[in-house]
Amino acid sequence: VLQPFWSRGPIRGVVSDLDGVAYRGELPIASSIEAFRRWREQGVPYAFVTNNSSLSASQFAEKLSRMGVAVTRAQIFTTIDASATLLRQRWPHGGRAYVIGERPLSEAVEDAGFTIAGTGADVVVLGFDCNLTYDKLRIATRAVLGGTPVIATNPDALTPAPDGYDPCVGMTIAAISAAVPEAEIIVVGKPQPFMIEQAVALLGVAKPDAIMIGDQLATDIIAGQRAGLRSILFASDAPFNGASTTTPDGIVASLLDLVEVPVGARQS
Ligand SMILES: [Mg+2]
Repeated sequence: VLQPFWSRGPIRGVVSDLDGVAYRGELPIASSIEAFRRWREQGVPYAFVTNNSSLSASQFAEKLSRMGVAVTRAQIFTTIDASATLLRQRWPHGGRAYVIGERPLSEAVEDAGFTIAGTGADVVVLGFDCNLTYDKLRIATRAVLGGTPVIATNPDALTPAPDGYDPCVGMTIAAISAAVPEAEIIVVGKPQPFMIEQAVALLGVAKPDAIMIGDQLATDIIAGQRAGLRSILFASDAPFNGASTTTPDGIVASLLDLVEVPVGARQS
């Protein structure tokens, strides 16, 4: 018998996925927006973690603010920032990088001390790129054939789109691995717990007192559990990104089900 997550104590901090939880594409999920408003009122701190590498933390903060969630860029943890942190750790003096990805990713790689280069790269960085071409794959493959390691922002094979799902970075990783099976590929985003650990440190609450909310078992739920948080599946939609044997600590159809009702307001 599963122990219900709420029997393990109140929720003192919230770490949440973005796409598929706060919004779907450009459409805010109204009940989620309302839940974050109430958490703010109640003084329950929250932060967001996303595998999406197409926008910077500031751009995500602007998007959420437009949708009615009070948030600053410090509360957003992206795979762009996590990848840049990893680059700085492994190449403290910078180097040359070949990037498949959108502008915010290239900018973060440059900020980490790298020159963007098609040849002689020390590292290939893979992120979401809606202008992916054969030429980009060819340049990356040539580098990897020469022994250049790969840092990939996230493993998701699919990403939600307003009218279905689009291919994501997992597909690009698969292409490179198919061409070069011995490639060294480091995958940064969820299900690695790194961003969630950073987020919960910002919230300043103990890990068992915080929850991780996500719509994907294979990334959000596993990452939350690895980080030592209770992981809640927001199941408004069928999970994708492959089958998973992971069991979430709770399943809700609305984030409002997670918001504590003030004493005295329970009955009407
Ligand atoms: Mg999601």
